[in-house]
Amino acid sequence: MNKYSISQDVIETIEIECRRSPDKETGGILVGVRVDSCTIVTHCSGPGLIWNSSKHHFTKDTDYAQQTLNLLYEYFGVNYLGLWHKHPSEYPSPSQGDIINAMDEISSTNIGLNELLTPICSLTDSNVTISPFIIRDGSAHRIDWEISHGDCTITNELFKTFWYDSRTGRERLDDEVARLQDQKLSVLVTKGEDGRCRVRATSDKREKQELVFLCPNDYPLSSPFVAILDKETEQYIPVISQNISDWNMYKYMSDITNELSFL
Ligand SMILES: [Zn+2]
Repeated sequence: MNKYSISQDVIETIEIECRRSPDKETGGILVGVRVDSCTIVTHCSGPGLIWNSSKHHFTKDTDYAQQTLNLLYEYFGVNYLGLWHKHPSEYPSPSQGDIINAMDEISSTNIGLNELLTPICSLTDSNVTISPFIIRDGSAHRIDWEISHGDCTITNELFKTFWYDSRTGRERLDDEVARLQDQKLSVLVTKGEDGRCRVRATSDKREKQELVFLCPNDYPLSSPFVAILDKETEQYIPVISQNISDWNMYKYMSDITNELSFL
């Protein structure tokens, strides 16, 4: 009997993404590990930049999906598990087209899977329903999954590494710092006790403020948390930014400083 689990963070990311696209279909890939008969979803992506969708159909942005997979594999050794996407609420199951696509992927690519997780999401008012399915042997099967809250020992072991310790992560961090310095900002990178990386940018023109980017451990797949530190009051003021709302891994912290005119 196969068991499935998904992290609460992934559920929340999917819910946010569904609410962001109320009138069209959206989706992304699911990534994680398979240990014995247990499939654990640890990460997901959004749709990327170029994706096809109609009322009943969603096709992923293949390049974005592949880059997401490459990044997460390098960070944590996690692999492709399937595709989540949104349907109109009257179609809560995978369509025949979804089944054909999934069977094509299982048979034609070297993914080493005999089933693909294919949860279907729907949005009613602002409520997101996520119905888990797998597609296997030419049909969709409803499954149950357990939602984990950071208490899974297998995934906790995987996440002892930090994104910036990998080659790609290090290069990305160097690139981020160089882009901020090109904007004539002074940059300081610090790592907290929890290992989370903070990038602190200051401008000569704004002596009393510091812009602080707190990077999640799958950065730049997920956006940074951004706040302005008022150095006099030591208060953090959260930043509202279109670049953060529309985040994808092709965006940089320098896009946010530009948007905020924090130069
Ligand atoms: Zn579908």
